[in-house]
Amino acid sequence: MATLKARNILITGANRGLGLELVRQLVEIPYPNRQIFACCRDPDGPKSKVLQELAKKHPSVIKMIRLDVTDSGSIKEAAERVSSLLGKGGLNLLVNNSGVAANGTIQSSSADDMLSNFNTNVVGSFRVIKEFLPCLRISAKASGEQGMSCNKAAVINMSSIAASMTHAPQIYAFLPAVSYKVSKAGLNMLTICAAYEFKPDEILFTALHPGWARTDMGGQNATLDVKESIEGVIRVMSGLTEEQHGAYVDYTGKTLPW
Ligand code: NDP
Repeated sequence: MATLKARNILITGANRGLGLELVRQLVEIPYPNRQIFACCRDPDGPKSKVLQELAKKHPSVIKMIRLDVTDSGSIKEAAERVSSLLGKGGLNLLVNNSGVAANGTIQSSSADDMLSNFNTNVVGSFRVIKEFLPCLRISAKASGEQGMSCNKAAVINMSSIAASMTHAPQIYAFLPAVSYKVSKAGLNMLTICAAYEFKPDEILFTALHPGWARTDMGGQNATLDVKESIEGVIRVMSGLTEEQHGAYVDYTGKTLPW
């Protein structure tokens, strides 16, 4: 099995749920001089307590960075701080993990549900990609590796099977979540557009469904615990190549229908 050799990794929404578990598991994978930029809205607040404790245990690896994906100013500040910590190095792996989910049908949802889900899940990832692009380009250029990989320069957009238009009719009855689904389908399209636009830069873009996992968002009836979901996510990220550039895959590596 391939191991993840990305040196510098940034994760949004890293203070709880899948983002936190990703930091927790990545810090256990040894790699020389690895830096994990664990981004969250309120690094000093009570919702980041577990991440604060983890960062205290691994101060040379985990750097907590304030980043709210709905606030362009905070993303700019985060990019400046990350760039200064990277020095001459670049960013190898960016995981657009933060997300919100409103449940509801078209009739029970408000326009604000739609706007807020779109703002965080699509525009948020769009803003983050744009701001960190120079750091990703540095890694892609500096790497002597052929092709594409998460070790070289990659963006993983945390998508959802709920965004699949093929699966939508089966899922709608028990999970309408119309604002969430429309936004994640938008994130999938953003992944494809980015894959086309940044192919010459050799930056890999993949949409990844982490499975249905027990988090605040996934709820307690979900089939996976966060450990299992993120073990799969890391395994899949480690093996991605240009074959999955612009693809939609799940935590087992299976390609999903759009
Ligand atoms: P959680 O609700 O447990 O965590 C969401 C994370 O996103 C939190 O860290 C939250 O931070 C952060 N976040 C929300 N809004 C913002 C913002 N404006 N700026 C920065 N961070 C923000 O969700 P999960 O861990 O379950 O989900 C992680 C990702 O995986 C999401 O993109 C989700 O759509 C996707 N996913 C999850 C599935 C599941 O079953 N759990 C299934 C399919 C996809 P804060 O604490 O500040 O609110």
